[in-house]
Amino acid sequence: MGDTVFDPVPPHYPQFYPQLLWKIRTDVVAGKILRIGLATPLLRLFDYRYPDRGEGEALHTPTRGKRIIVPFGKKTRIGVIAAITDTSAIPAAKLRKAIRVIDAEPLLDESMMTLLEWAANYYHHAPGEVIAAALPRILRKGGAVDATEAIWHATEHGRNADIEALAKRAPVQARIVELAWKKPDGADEATLSAAGKTWRTAAAKLINKNLLEVTQRRIVPPSAKGPTHDQSIDTPPTLTNNQRNAIDAITAASGYAAFLLEGVTGSGKTEVYLRCIERELEQGRQSLLLVPEIGLTPQLVDRFRRRLTTDIVVLHSGLNDTERLLAWRMARDSSAGVIIGTRSAIFTPLPNPGLIIIDEEHDASLKQQDGFRYSARDLAVWRAHQLDIPIVLGSATPSFESLENVNAGRYAKLRLPNRPGNARQPDVRLIDLRMQPCKDGLTEPLRVAIARHLADDGQVLLYLNRRGFAPSMMCTNCGQLVECRRCDARLVYHRHRARLVCHHCGAEHAVPHECAACHAPDLLPVGQGTERLEQAVSELFAQHRIIRIDRDTTRRKGEIERRLELVRSGEARLLLGTQMLTKGHDFPNVTMVGIIDADQGLFGTDFRSSERLAQSFIQVAGRAGRRDRPGEVYIQTLFPDHPLLMTLVAEGYDRFADQAMEERKSAGWPPYSCLALTRAEATHRHTAFVFLDEARDLAAQLINTGRFVGVRWLGPATAPMERRSGRYRGQLLIQADTRRQMQRFLGEWRPALDELKSARKTRWSLDVDPAELF
Ligand code: ADP
Ligand code: ZN
Repeated sequence: MGDTVFDPVPPHYPQFYPQLLWKIRTDVVAGKILRIGLATPLLRLFDYRYPDRGEGEALHTPTRGKRIIVPFGKKTRIGVIAAITDTSAIPAAKLRKAIRVIDAEPLLDESMMTLLEWAANYYHHAPGEVIAAALPRILRKGGAVDATEAIWHATEHGRNADIEALAKRAPVQARIVELAWKKPDGADEATLSAAGKTWRTAAAKLINKNLLEVTQRRIVPPSAKGPTHDQSIDTPPTLTNNQRNAIDAITAASGYAAFLLEGVTGSGKTEVYLRCIERELEQGRQSLLLVPEIGLTPQLVDRFRRRLTTDIVVLHSGLNDTERLLAWRMARDSSAGVIIGTRSAIFTPLPNPGLIIIDEEHDASLKQQDGFRYSARDLAVWRAHQLDIPIVLGSATPSFESLENVNAGRYAKLRLPNRPGNARQPDVRLIDLRMQPCKDGLTEPLRVAIARHLADDGQVLLYLNRRGFAPSMMCTNCGQLVECRRCDARLVYHRHRARLVCHHCGAEHAVPHECAACHAPDLLPVGQGTERLEQAVSELFAQHRIIRIDRDTTRRKGEIERRLELVRSGEARLLLGTQMLTKGHDFPNVTMVGIIDADQGLFGTDFRSSERLAQSFIQVAGRAGRRDRPGEVYIQTLFPDHPLLMTLVAEGYDRFADQAMEERKSAGWPPYSCLALTRAEATHRHTAFVFLDEARDLAAQLINTGRFVGVRWLGPATAPMERRSGRYRGQLLIQADTRRQMQRFLGEWRPALDELKSARKTRWSLDVDPAELF
């Protein structure tokens, strides 16, 4: 492969990290050796000898992709067989014997193992942890694929028991027997736990008394069904020409092809996904759809269920271990035709792969920001290539990486420039905060516009990406701001909870009565957060129902769905909130969007700040006027003649992207170069920097050999927020002209970092293609 994908492809290694093994003398051992992935942070696999035949147990042949139990130190561990070889760097006498192969069939098929291998190599991450990312927790811990659950029945004796008498002595037991009566098929844990806290002991006593019996049954997945006979199937709309062209292009692809579907918000991208998925289902093939955050878009899943007659599984962070295993199993045995999930769903098994779709492909949440720092979008492109199937990347505001892939001819661009029917793109107006008095974050023109839309029966959405009441507390006497003791950051005032909270480390404090510096008693909340905005609009528009959506108001399970429903039903007329509101929601009746403070990201330090800012503007603005009624967007700013805002408002995202990409090109930032960021943090600044300095010296040595043309380093430097959670943070940036150069360099540099003594004294990580430089 190579240039057809995004040119990320390092030389394809037959095994994980062979370069580490070359350095050591290789002993040839009689018989085969198992090379096993164990979830440790080490950049290597572990060699073992074949296990002995267990007494009376079926002996499963070791095969790549099966789980295996091995001795590790004084304990045992569960790993996955990654390779079978005949040589090992470990002397024959020291090789330990594996204990037992768990699986009869590989859990991870050849294509998945290849993907994981590639990912471990590309992201220079411990292969054992990478493999672990592809298995549901129950399987990682050695559980059976065929999960079972306990169910309880009332025995013959139990069905004839004198409940009233029992209730007097043991009320919980009596309730259990009654609950079991009501379930002739058996009562599960969830049912019996309603009997009271002590239900388990009570159930055990009942079993002893022969009133109850317990058995195991195979867990049946919670209904993931598409529309059934009692549920109506949505009638599909008549496609627009643009939609038809896009669908034709995608379905015409035989084998790998990458498409960037650039469609303004509300232009019918989801409809395109649905039709393409339907085609795949007709051919008996599975589709994988990755979305940024499912919790925020329950309607999307509903919409799929109302249209497709297949089982749909949904994978997101809210699932418990059993639910996750069931979903994984349904994908693996092909009973699910559609898999919808957040980034980690990229590792879902697809025995009958047909199509991969990434919705909102620009979204930063597709990149994992800790541990195994992979980009689900990039892995998806690689996986589609490897499976030889088409991939669609959809967005109203494509990432510059994807736009550059279009320019380079690697992706085909499909456009949906209009909204279907009468829905039009909203009008956008800037409100100059320098000319307008502003009370609680709202200028007069904005208040007037809100009132007008509410009077016209419209819905209004106000966007402010800052939760809490006020972002800081200031002493009115000396001007001192209250700061977090552990971070270089100000504490945010949360009025409802009466706390000052650090949004970086989570520290909470009571609101102080006086300034720590001058002891004056007058502390004043400065600036706006969503809580304050809510209070202000509640006073101004008291007759209307107002809904606030941010992380503080949606902590409870089901709360986000409840709030979104109030918006969709039209009961709530004004909604306000953070970033959570900008992602993918279809609010049919929103006619006006107000961006309270456009200036938060205008002068960001990251080279992606302006791209991110433009994306969130366009996304939030896109919530207005999705149906027949025209939408209006108001943006409050102190910098109405800032070039970014001017281009965005007057000419739209494409034009903005063209300009901003030119700037990137001349500055040599991605996508016109490739980055890897080493971050280090320690309690003492010195410790982190000793490591970073040594890492820099190693890089310099390697680069000075002349073997790594096009690779350079920047730093080390302190992180933009130097202290966080009481730890000092620094970083060293590696930049290369191409991914290939970067990979060649990292292949030598990364293992050498592990050898540094200072590396063991500090907490550090390597982030290939970092989403953010902090
Ligand atoms: P996107 O995913 O681009 O935001 P959607 O697919 O959610 O857009 O479409 C926005 C709205 O327009 C939805 O309510 C959808 O049902 C409707 N829609 C999509 N395609 C058509 C069409 N061809 N004709 C009429 N309505 C459509
Ligand atoms: Zn803090």
